[in-house]
Amino acid sequence: MACKPIGKSRHSWSVTPHLLDYDLACRTFSWTGIRRELDGLPGGEGLNIAHEAVDRHADGGLRDHRAIRFLPIDGSPRDFTYGDLKRLSNRFANVLRNLDVGRDDTVCLLCGRIPELYWGALGTLKNGSVLCPLFSAFGPDPVFERLRRGKARALVTTGQQYRKKVGDRRDALTALGHVLLVDTDEHREQGLWSLPRLMAEAGDEFRIPPTDPEDRALLHFTSGTTGPPKGAVHVHQAVLLHYMTGKYVLDLHPGDVFWCTADPGWVTGTSYGIIAPLLHGITSLVDEGDFDAERWCHILESERVDVWYTAPTAIRRLMRMGVEPKRKHDLRRLRSVHSVGEPLNPEAVIWGETALGAPIHDNWWQTETGGIMIANYPSMEIRPGSMGRPLPGIEAAIVRRLDQDQVEVLVDPDVEGELALRPGWPSMFRGYLDDEERTRKCFAGGWYLSGDLARRDADGYFWFVGRADDIIKTSGHMVGPFEVESGLMEHPAVAEAGVIGKPDPLLGEKVKAFVSLKAGILPTDALRLELMGFARQRLGPAVAPREIEFQDSLPKNRAGKIMRRLLKARELGLPEGDLSTLETDT
Ligand code: ATP
Ligand code: MG
Repeated sequence: MACKPIGKSRHSWSVTPHLLDYDLACRTFSWTGIRRELDGLPGGEGLNIAHEAVDRHADGGLRDHRAIRFLPIDGSPRDFTYGDLKRLSNRFANVLRNLDVGRDDTVCLLCGRIPELYWGALGTLKNGSVLCPLFSAFGPDPVFERLRRGKARALVTTGQQYRKKVGDRRDALTALGHVLLVDTDEHREQGLWSLPRLMAEAGDEFRIPPTDPEDRALLHFTSGTTGPPKGAVHVHQAVLLHYMTGKYVLDLHPGDVFWCTADPGWVTGTSYGIIAPLLHGITSLVDEGDFDAERWCHILESERVDVWYTAPTAIRRLMRMGVEPKRKHDLRRLRSVHSVGEPLNPEAVIWGETALGAPIHDNWWQTETGGIMIANYPSMEIRPGSMGRPLPGIEAAIVRRLDQDQVEVLVDPDVEGELALRPGWPSMFRGYLDDEERTRKCFAGGWYLSGDLARRDADGYFWFVGRADDIIKTSGHMVGPFEVESGLMEHPAVAEAGVIGKPDPLLGEKVKAFVSLKAGILPTDALRLELMGFARQRLGPAVAPREIEFQDSLPKNRAGKIMRRLLKARELGLPEGDLSTLETDT
């Protein structure tokens, strides 16, 4: 896709980016250097994420600085300083300790984006337990499966969530010793406790036990886009990458207000919705509500957001509604916008430049990588449609798997292959929960294989092609759905597109597109023909869809990602597979 590079000129920077010279940063980078920017536990007792995120600021100069501002659905904002977070997370760690929930025990949190979730998460990490936040909109089955597979020892939740999703099947969750209800003032029975009461009885002081950087810290389930969700285990050392990407990618500076819209039930909402902003001692916004175009634009303006981290699904929704935030809102404070989770179509990057007045920086990573791996940086021009370049300290390559143990590294530019990373970065998952075989399959020839296809251009920018499972083989060509979807989205009537390969006796597979249209546009045959012609002109006849079907909305999972495997299964009349993460209105 030939789009002009965009980005801020040096003169328009309101703050000087941390990463000014990419090549120099790559050459001089070391993880030891990053480690030196953090504190470590007092007395050289190791490295604990919560100490770095909270205590070192609370004990330093930021005790009274606002750490998190919660925006409730109704009512006024609630602010918590670094001092407040230290005290509350200490108390929560004491609650766990008093219940004999200890090191390496899994603690799940199942509640909306309320303060308890955040100080509970930090207290869990202080206690050396394994933090596993669950998305509160999940139904009973996905909740049960995650509690069972994670061997949850304690669960923090609301009375209603407990009643609806856990209560009747609790006996089958043999590891679950304690349920802590956030909204109940009296203990209900043994093992079904009132969290406010336990918190009131717990002490304010807590000494974090020695924490080995390799101690397990986080359990995150993947989004379930390609199949049943996998549980990825991360360790405390991941904090090095959370900190480093907060510095180089999000480019956080003292005094900033940062807003990550992801729920902590997904890895983004924990790595960047809880940990990274606190590591940088800034103010993090947490909105309890879900996507609402008007509310979100209002928050960006009234909370004077400097840096915004969101997802393509939200950006596409704003585009689809024809919303141009900058027209009605003063967004001059907004320095940069970042996006992750799905490919960001070039159209969306260009829209951001005018509609938000700040460039949208795409970045790529996965639950397995624990944090951002490839990114567009504030100091560099953005190539719309590209995921950017690997972080300093991260070695990425395009490879072809030869067999179970070997890969060939494809060094020439613009060659498509599997995106691979050199293992050893601190937030690399340490394995899938109880699935060694699957973990082993991700590694070959000294590389971690991501399962995504991409290409790298001559300047080292990576371009997403598609998930290995979604690639379409048509008339001898390999077609990535992203390219076709982006081509269609350039048409002014198209809001979203999902593209699949459909078996065809002549072509092998035929490219089929599902398209949803912008508000007020009718799905006519004439428009279908127009779109086919438009795509043929832009993409060429081999790549353009041969079939287009209009749908009101495309099936997405709860992380907001288009589920192409479901479009395909429905098209071919095949079993729909694991639907535990499907958004229910599709
Ligand atoms: P599952 O592994 O269960 O199928 P998932 O892969 O969607 O689900 P996540 O770990 O949340 O689970 O998502 C990571 C994936 O999201 C990446 O492997 C990639 O396919 C996609 N992705 C993330 N960021 C980007 C991006 N900037 N551009 C393109 N794709 C992206
Ligand atoms: Mg995945």
